[in-house]
Amino acid sequence: MAGKKTITVFGATGAQGGSVVKALLQDNLFSVRAVTRDVTKPTARKLKEAGAEVVCADLDDETSVKHALKGAYGAFVVTNFWEHMDKDKEIKQGKQIADHCKQLGLQHVVYSGLENVHKLTGGQLEVLHFDSKGIVEEYSRQIKVPMTSVRLAFYFENLLTLCKPQKCQDGKTYQLVIPMGDIPMDGISVTDLGPIVCSILKNPCEYTGKDIGLSADKLTIKQYAEIMSEVTGKTIVDSKITPEAYAKLNFPGVQEMTSMFLFYHMRPDRNVELTRKLNPDVQTFKKFMEANKEAFKDL
Ligand code: NAP
Repeated sequence: MAGKKTITVFGATGAQGGSVVKALLQDNLFSVRAVTRDVTKPTARKLKEAGAEVVCADLDDETSVKHALKGAYGAFVVTNFWEHMDKDKEIKQGKQIADHCKQLGLQHVVYSGLENVHKLTGGQLEVLHFDSKGIVEEYSRQIKVPMTSVRLAFYFENLLTLCKPQKCQDGKTYQLVIPMGDIPMDGISVTDLGPIVCSILKNPCEYTGKDIGLSADKLTIKQYAEIMSEVTGKTIVDSKITPEAYAKLNFPGVQEMTSMFLFYHMRPDRNVELTRKLNPDVQTFKKFMEANKEAFKDL
């Protein structure tokens, strides 16, 4: 480990940070400092067994954040809006990390950002978990944090969980209930983020100062459904739900999700070619489905 530069990875026990830790450890150029609020949890123990230094820090506790960043060459930063669904809290957490990265002189920060939709649309549309990250991106640029922002597309994994196909009344057919109409929606497996972040950290001159929209595939919901049907052998179709009808569904965060899909209607910049350059093994949706078809056994 001696002599290696350290990368502090926030959200290390989660989907994004977990993928980043895994890729960095495999690559072996940097040493990894993995951040969690609970170093005793099984995911944290596994990170330690895999070779990461695991440290305790809470994004709401400034001293612990500073401690987690001290001495690091770089960082991967993700904040989790969905844990609290509070835009201001996500902004506060993000700005505070940016301040410490700047003060401690980190040389390269990869931030999991998104667009400030409110600003982009002149106030026409508000997507709280995008806007907060966009505000943090802007702030980090203002205070001159050497940062690359990676803006992830919709995780393919969402199609196995929150947005999994719903059984129709006939008991046989399934529907994807996603209000995109015929507009293609970018997607990516979050497990493919790690090698992307690793490539970015290894090429700071090329990527510092850039906002990179990540996507592995641009498909209509009909195409997602067709691939799912082909791989699982089940009949899965696009429900063709409208945004208006979607907004009336009953689950926590439905307004936020509706606003996000409305922003996706505007086809935000997600660059499949650059994503493939950064991770040549990035999975297409078909590959992802083939690797995960077990998850559909008990639909
Ligand atoms: P995740 O799998 O739920 O993991 C959340 C991570 O955040 C955990 O490692 C957790 O660590 C850490 N964390 C949460 N609050 C913390 C705090 N106060 N202090 C320290 N660590 C904290 O989440 P994820 O999917 O990796 O990332 C979520 C973010 O991705 C969201 O903000 C979302 O907007 C963004 N995003 C999602 C999608 C999508 O399609 N789902 C697409 C683009 C962007 P411990 O619990 O171990 O402390």
